[in-house]
Amino acid sequence: MLEIGQAQEKVLEDIPVLGTERIHILEALGRVLAHDVKAKRDVPAGDNSAMDGYACRHGDVAGASATNPVKLKLIGEAAAGKPFAGRVGSGEATWIMTGGLIPAGADTVVMVEDTTREGDEVTILTDPGKSRHIRPRGEDVTENETVLSKGDIVRAPEIGMLATLGHAYVHVYQRPLVAILSTGDELVDLDEPFSEGKVVCSNSYSLAAQVMECGAIPLSLGIASDDEADQRARISEGLRADAILTSGGVSVGKYDLVKDTLSQLGMRVKFWKVAMKPGKPLVFGTIGNKPVFGLPGNPTSAMISFEQFVRPALLKMMGHVNLFRPFIEATLADDAPKEPNRLHLVRCQVFEKDGRLMARRTANQSSGALRSMVLADGLMILAPEDAPFTAGKTVQVQLLHTNSPLSPHSPFSELGTRKGLHLVPGMGGALIAAAEHPGKG
Ligand code: AMP
Ligand code: MG
Repeated sequence: MLEIGQAQEKVLEDIPVLGTERIHILEALGRVLAHDVKAKRDVPAGDNSAMDGYACRHGDVAGASATNPVKLKLIGEAAAGKPFAGRVGSGEATWIMTGGLIPAGADTVVMVEDTTREGDEVTILTDPGKSRHIRPRGEDVTENETVLSKGDIVRAPEIGMLATLGHAYVHVYQRPLVAILSTGDELVDLDEPFSEGKVVCSNSYSLAAQVMECGAIPLSLGIASDDEADQRARISEGLRADAILTSGGVSVGKYDLVKDTLSQLGMRVKFWKVAMKPGKPLVFGTIGNKPVFGLPGNPTSAMISFEQFVRPALLKMMGHVNLFRPFIEATLADDAPKEPNRLHLVRCQVFEKDGRLMARRTANQSSGALRSMVLADGLMILAPEDAPFTAGKTVQVQLLHTNSPLSPHSPFSELGTRKGLHLVPGMGGALIAAAEHPGKG
């Protein structure tokens, strides 16, 4: 049986990066740039004022102070978007507003707060220093500079930068369409009558949400019964997608037929079963060049298998370079018993106690208990070789949600519930340490 890391490698070596498309910058939020972006002009495009005040020649105001005031004659104004057409000569000044272009002849801006004015005469009460409060042309970005690179994730700052540079459209990697099939005679959908012995099909929904969370597009193939013909018909429909996920029917039960169905559809099996709990019976293969993930049916097994294998694969398809969730080190709050042979991924909550990060198992670790996922901040990684896992031991925890517990507390106020945690550079990823932020713990 493959170890989890070997299985991840096998999956990723078969995953293609999708093609690119040109979309509006606002639609590009969360997507990955498919090309470098060079600045086609300087930003800012001209020298302009960082303050509201007066533009003048430094030679005139050198040495000015409250006891040695300098009087200048106001000859006009330079507002943002409305440059002053004339030239500032010796003994002269213009009004200037933040963002206003520095008029010809001027080389310094004096803040309003350091002046007084009467009619056309402005009195300068400080020497701001030469070139003060001027934002020089190109101080942010210079023409032809590479500002964004292929592979960058488009976040709000990148969207702002693209707009600043005058780009309405960008090329990004495409999002995969991901077909999702649930299998099981016991399953009913939300609009179907429920009775004892039936199970509401939750995997179609949790998996679709996971697909959407990583930026891909889910395509529901509905629920197939434990019947090869039904499964075959539905999966065939899914072959127009870029990847196929099935849930259930991949274990060793009499009605676990999904592997056979997939083989009939031409799947080349790359592996079946991974040495992990939950999620052991995963099957992975390809039909043509399409990755197919046969996930186990238990709701937490399906979600955790998605996290470990499907999410990195979908991210790779979309051009991402960082494919894995960050992990932290935390101290075990209680003993964590485990089977000797397999790696366990234990749903846990992360909290802070006496300046240390602690991890506590969520109560019910059954593979069917979805509540454990609802409560979990992350997954404790319990490898057989590191056993025993007794209270006080340091363990690694893979975080499942970036807003929990990463952003629990405002660093500026008493808002929030827990002490702040901060990111510190760690081995190959993000390591998070408890920080002594001011405020209540
Ligand atoms: P299986 O992997 O088909 O043996 O299913 C394992 C367990 O997961 C069984 O208890 C199933 O009822 C349950 N299960 C399978 N598929 C789903 C699903 N789509 N939604 C919720 N539970 C499921
Ligand atoms: Mg089943």
